[in-house]
Amino acid sequence: MKYNHIPRERLGFFPTPLVELSKLSKKLNGPRIFMKRDDNTGLAMGGNKTRKLEFILGDALAHGANTIVTAGAAQSNHCRQTAAAAASLGLECHLVLGGKEPAHVNGNLLLDKIFGCHIHWAGQNRKGEDIPTIVEQLKRDGKTPYVVPYGGSNALGAVAFVEAFAELQAQCKDLRLSFTHIVFASSSGGTHAGLMLGNKLFKSPCQIVGINIDKDEAGEASFHQTIVSLASSAARLIGEDCTFSDSDLTLNLDYVGEGYGVMGALENEAISMTAQTQGILLDPVYTGKAMGGLIDMIRAGQFKPSDRVLFWHTGGAPALFAYSSALDLAQNSSTLG
Ligand SMILES: *Cc1c(COP(=O)(O)O)cnc(C)c1O
Repeated sequence: MKYNHIPRERLGFFPTPLVELSKLSKKLNGPRIFMKRDDNTGLAMGGNKTRKLEFILGDALAHGANTIVTAGAAQSNHCRQTAAAAASLGLECHLVLGGKEPAHVNGNLLLDKIFGCHIHWAGQNRKGEDIPTIVEQLKRDGKTPYVVPYGGSNALGAVAFVEAFAELQAQCKDLRLSFTHIVFASSSGGTHAGLMLGNKLFKSPCQIVGINIDKDEAGEASFHQTIVSLASSAARLIGEDCTFSDSDLTLNLDYVGEGYGVMGALENEAISMTAQTQGILLDPVYTGKAMGGLIDMIRAGQFKPSDRVLFWHTGGAPALFAYSSALDLAQNSSTLG
């Protein structure tokens, strides 16, 4: 496994902490639960995209780029981390965001603006469909644009999560710990592909359980295909030859609910329970859904008492501010007098 030949820019602080959530385990009467704190990667409020961007923006600079273009939802954590990373590297940044400019700028969008990036509102086109047009315009303007894929999910982004898996292995060794399951929010697939490949390369017996948070009209098969092909291309990039079978890939589609970014009771309970037992913030779009899924699986008896479950916190809490009206806070209010 070699990645020293891949260009890279340092953007975050690693290793991120590994902590045990004993109060949450107790509350659920469940297995031991641990958390990998990638919400603390250190780049502009953190998140899993920091790892991917170290390799992807390293590649951009190696290609002589001076302008970064990427896409996402209005509350995209990926776009916010890209905007911060581009600013720190002296690169111009263009974000192609789904929807239209909201009346109130909040959460990640507020941060995007603080980082001074150029925002292009794309209506229905939340996944970067408008990027080619914008790239052509930037070239006509004499710039050298570089496109960061949706969610930072390409072979380079997945390699970052092979390295993250290696980082976790080293922490486990120090703490004499091993996990039976790694649970996390899976969307554009790079995190999932990297962890799955890392798990295979380290011959770890761990089950890698992605909780899908995004409805895809093309269905489950296309998610599987994306993740396997990302993992295969990442393997080639680091000089490994891997094939994956169905048992390597667990993608749970039970918790998609109303779809991407729609917050309901599942997310609300997970966010308040994690905050109130552990003092840790989850987010309304990704980690709230994934933790909601984990809580449900624990209640459904899907883990043995002896299991040791790692929840990989992928970040996202800045979006909480933009979702305040969907957060159920009623039980905490009282009026005096
Ligand atoms: C992007 C993101 C994910 C999903 O990671 P992918 O590699 O795109 O599957 C999960 N959680 C948060 C907070 C994210 O921003």
